[in-house]
Amino acid sequence: MNIIEIDQKYVAGTYKRFPLEIVSGKGSVVKDSAGKEYIDLGSGIAVTSFGIADDEWQKAVTEQIGKVQHMSNLYYTEPCAKLAQILCERTGMKKVFFSNSGAEANECAIKVARKYSAEKKGADCYTIVTLKNSFHGRTLTTLAATGQDHFHELFQPLTPGFVSVDAGDIGQLKKLAETTKIAGIMIECVQGEGGVIPLDMEYVKELSSFVKEQDIILIVDEVQTGNGRCGTLYAYQKLGLKPDVVSTAKGLAGGLPMGATMMSEKVENVLGFGDHGSTFGGNPVCAAAAISILNRIDDQLLKEVQEKSDYIFKALEGAKGIESVTGLGLMIGIKTEKPAGEVVAACMEKGVLCLTAKDKVRLLPALNIPMELLEKAVEIIKEAAA
Ligand SMILES: *Cc1c(COP(=O)(O)O)cnc(C)c1O
Repeated sequence: MNIIEIDQKYVAGTYKRFPLEIVSGKGSVVKDSAGKEYIDLGSGIAVTSFGIADDEWQKAVTEQIGKVQHMSNLYYTEPCAKLAQILCERTGMKKVFFSNSGAEANECAIKVARKYSAEKKGADCYTIVTLKNSFHGRTLTTLAATGQDHFHELFQPLTPGFVSVDAGDIGQLKKLAETTKIAGIMIECVQGEGGVIPLDMEYVKELSSFVKEQDIILIVDEVQTGNGRCGTLYAYQKLGLKPDVVSTAKGLAGGLPMGATMMSEKVENVLGFGDHGSTFGGNPVCAAAAISILNRIDDQLLKEVQEKSDYIFKALEGAKGIESVTGLGLMIGIKTEKPAGEVVAACMEKGVLCLTAKDKVRLLPALNIPMELLEKAVEIIKEAAA
């Protein structure tokens, strides 16, 4: 059996994979088992922030592997402490809890909102509000948070205490608050899996003042939008939001599993001894990788992310077969006249890997993708969409 056959026989059938086996890569170019090269515009779904097998990232990882690859959270390790310091200094948040994925980062955020509200407003104040069409993860609790019913079918009962409202309609949220005690509201600045849809700015302002006035914990899920993806370190900084809790994962450690839940001054002491934990959380190799990634997401890099974003919008908006381009920074959704799946397949044939999100073609290239590769890939997308 070849690798594809072995995988299909033994790996749980949860993923609809492309008939493509990736064996190696460098930066924004990956190679399949037949030796064909592709320009990678997916980055493992916004994970490999600086591409595949990046030299600086590799050095940070291998150096730490040679020192200590894992230590229990019963002891202190330098990468974990320093990473938390960097995250706090660059966001103004006060404390960080480390985990291993986006779903776990959100679970922690939800626990913070629930405990804060239970202590301050009573045990019946537990409801977490999310937005319709959102995506927050695959665990039973983060599925409950995910405002898309088709994910919920056949997995009932999910964790209770979650309600979703329409994005952009502040009246719905206010009406809900009249009858339900709300502990927290969780939002994505740009709905990623939902089709790369940025939140309306006016709604963001109304939401922000409403949660403040009601002492509702505002959680921003930056699992996909964070770590430079949207042209600022975190997307909420671009929107001028002041969240109480920020969760992130995907691109944080550049290709190793790491989640982080950042807590503002208001909630920094909500979690105490024994309230939460994770065996692998804050793993020194993942933390060393994340430090190397964050240290490279400086003003110059963020400026380049924005310039590349502007270039993509300009090149694709109004092009033949393209109806609209949405997103922020290097998180881009393209509505094509042809079905998105067809365009992605045609791109793959021509050596470009793109993703989809709902009915859109989705691009999440490495933050440092070289301009000449990006130009080449954009031409191929235009050809495929025309
Ligand atoms: C991917 C994603 C998650 C889930 O992350 P996992 O690491 O797969 O658990 C949660 N929220 C958002 C916004 C995401 O894009």
